[in-house]
Amino acid sequence: MRIPFIAGNWKMYKTTAEAEAFAVEFKKSYHDTDVKAAICAPFTQLATLAKIFEGTGIGVGAQNVYFEKEGAYTGEISVDMLKEIGVDYCIVGHSERRQYFNETDETVNLKLKALLQADITPILCVGEVLSEREDGREEQVVSSQIKKALEGLTVERVCSLVIAYEPVWAIGTGKTATPQQANQMCGCIRQTLENLYDDVLSDRVVIQYGGSVKPENATDIMNMEEIDGALVGGASLDVVKFMEIINF
Ligand code: 13P
Repeated sequence: MRIPFIAGNWKMYKTTAEAEAFAVEFKKSYHDTDVKAAICAPFTQLATLAKIFEGTGIGVGAQNVYFEKEGAYTGEISVDMLKEIGVDYCIVGHSERRQYFNETDETVNLKLKALLQADITPILCVGEVLSEREDGREEQVVSSQIKKALEGLTVERVCSLVIAYEPVWAIGTGKTATPQQANQMCGCIRQTLENLYDDVLSDRVVIQYGGSVKPENATDIMNMEEIDGALVGGASLDVVKFMEIINF
């Protein structure tokens, strides 16, 4: 039985004061729901959010991490640093990081290994760009991203993983994949997991859809069989909208 999981990805938005105001409001609104929720915030907001959300069941996530334990890596943050301040999740391989910050399937794999070892749940993002969809290669692209991301990881390690299918052409564009398109791709991800591991694992892994999710389309997306949750960008910056999505 997979529990619905809706996470906000704030990207590079909100100062600490703004994050604090959001968190206090959100904590008041988040109750009477069976849906798990988390906020993935910029590094400097994580400790504040972790303190405010303590004991509420609301998770806190980072948006990136470095895979080395420690060392001369100016500007980077390690898994132990995240763990120490109470971080539960970490987004890995978001298309914006693949596009602007040289994230590759290889670094995604190393980051997943470091996070899973430290018991921080990775939210692994995969998704095709528009030209790949137009060429009919979306399934091939996404399953190759999954295979490379999970290389060398055992079934025991992978069972806590969350995967977010985020078609790049639907991110921040207002264009949403149709619920059927999103469902088909989440099904393809599940099939890839079954081929790599087994059906027990593929049945357990939580798969989210991300890309212009908003209160108006959340119900249709969340009602699809293969889709267990959403990774929400823009609409997660507003408590009311984010709560409407959680209460789909
Ligand atoms: P939007 O919801 O703003 O399209 O962003 C989606 C996303 O990238 C979540 O990680």
